[in-house]
Parts: sequence; structure tokens; C-alpha cells
Amino acid sequence: MIYVQKNSSIPSSLARQTSYSGEDVTEQLNSDFHGKCYICEQKESITTYHVEHFVPHRGDVALKYDWNNLFLSCGHCNSVKTARQFDDILNCSDKSHQVEKSIRHYCNPFPREVAVFEVKIPSIKANNTRDLLDKTFNGEHTGFKKLESANLRALLLKEIEDFSDAIEGFEEDVDEKEYYKNKIIQHLNSNSAFTAFKRWIIRDNTKLIGEFGYFI
Ligand SMILES: [Zn+2]
Repeated sequence: MIYVQKNSSIPSSLARQTSYSGEDVTEQLNSDFHGKCYICEQKESITTYHVEHFVPHRGDVALKYDWNNLFLSCGHCNSVKTARQFDDILNCSDKSHQVEKSIRHYCNPFPREVAVFEVKIPSIKANNTRDLLDKTFNGEHTGFKKLESANLRALLLKEIEDFSDAIEGFEEDVDEKEYYKNKIIQHLNSNSAFTAFKRWIIRDNTKLIGEFGYFI
């Protein structure tokens, strides 16, 4: 989960209070969230997008059509958050919540890929966010949710492997150093998939943080 700067101008269709998923809303969400689910940060692989109410509206009209309360999520994360009632979590559109630095994201590839989340700036919201991320990636033990989480981890692992290859190329291939450097910078951009995991690989490495700290 990374910081997302939402556009401050409110999509006009929300003023009618008849739909929170008009085209102007979905287009703005897609642009602001870089086409990514704000919870898991998957991108091209998303088949079902949801306009999520960050704070469940439970019939409250003001919350239901409040632009600040509308987020972009995938179907998997939306249903995990709703089913488990993860209502009090870090807000990725609020810079003061420091979502990226609050939770270390790490992908442990062996012997079976596991996504690891560690609270670095303790708070109730951070703990709840860690639990939500853990449920999203490592899943329930049964049913379709288990399969969805396994698919998500496979996508994450593939992306992290691609990022790791770029780092390896940067460190070892003298002739192509600039090419790999640009590739790493692209991976660290907010619009790439699973950015938080990649940025933590940089943060965790004293050598790389000197080279790429500027880009995270
Ligand atoms: Zn998701």
C-alpha cells in the first residue's frame, strides 16, 4: 500500500447523489490510483474493479457520495475488507498516515511464497492494515479466497523476480547499467504494480538506498 494523491476537484455526478460510480468518478479513480487496487496494488491483472467506500456508508448518504471516501479496489480485496470489517485502517490518501513507512512489505519466496507485513510505526490503524494485507495476500485456508490469494502471490512473485533481475543487471552488467537503472526507476514509480514491496527492497539495502533513495 502506497500514498495516493487524490484529485481535489470532485467529479460532478456525485452532487446528484444518485450514483457513486458514474463515468467521471471511475475515470478519476482510475487516474488517481494509477489503475491499481489501493490495498494489494495489483494492476493489469485486475478483472473486477470496485468503487470502494473506505468508511462503510451503511446507508449514510453523506458518506455514500463523499469523494474523499471513494477508493479503487479489486474484487478480492474489497470482499476481504468487507467480510472481516476492516474499517479502521490507515488511509492511503492521507499523507500524515505514512502508509508506506508504517508497514514493511516483504515477499519471502521460499519454500513457498509468503507475503510478510511488519508494523514499523505502531498504531491501531497500522495493526489493522497489516492484518488486512496479510488476509488479502496469504488468505483464508479454504474456498475461493484461498485460490485468489495464491494467484495474487504468484503475480507478486513474478513482478518481484522481474525487479530483482533488474537490480542484478544493474549491479553486474557494466555495459547495460543505464538500461537497468531506468528499469529499476520505472518499477519504483507509483504506477507500477506492487510498488510498496519494491520500495522496501530498496529501503532494506544500504547500497541501493544510496543509489535509488531519491526515487522512493
Ligand atoms: Zn486488491
